Amino acid sequence: MLTRRFLLTSGAIGLTAWFGSSRFVAVSAPAEAFPVAHTDAEWRKLLTPAQYAVLRQSATERPFSSPLLAEHRSGLFACAGCDHGLFSSETKFESGTGWPSFWAPLSEDAVVMTPDTTLGMIRTEVHCARCGGHLGHVFDDGPKVTGLRYCMNGIAMIFKPAVA
Ligand SMILES: [Zn+2]
Repeated sequence: MLTRRFLLTSGAIGLTAWFGSSRFVAVSAPAEAFPVAHTDAEWRKLLTPAQYAVLRQSATERPFSSPLLAEHRSGLFACAGCDHGLFSSETKFESGTGWPSFWAPLSEDAVVMTPDTTLGMIRTEVHCARCGGHLGHVFDDGPKVTGLRYCMNGIAMIFKPAVA
């Protein structure tokens, strides 16, 4: 249902916008294109098997499985692979999808996008801008603030509560 709705309402408009963005990077960008790069063997040592599956193999965690879904404190969501700041708690919202959702990244250089046509869908994949790790996808059915919904895998991130 999500696929159909996305294609019908946003396939042309949303993706054209992203394709024209300066944040767009080539799908075949080599790992060295990112400031933080490790060999596959190194990543396997640095990450838990579940983190590796999502960040390095673009797996998707089970919906409603992430503790970060219910994280409502003020703070920062950083990349579990390289500690790069990705999202602020101020842009987090309840999407009802079962994945931590945000309407904007922390900054212009927090994340990068690539087109993703796997699973028979046209989606925009979101990566950490520092290590290239797969974080999730962005859809344009988000809240009115930006209209975007960054649908993230909680396991790809670590939460850092704001210091009072
Ligand atoms: Zn990263």
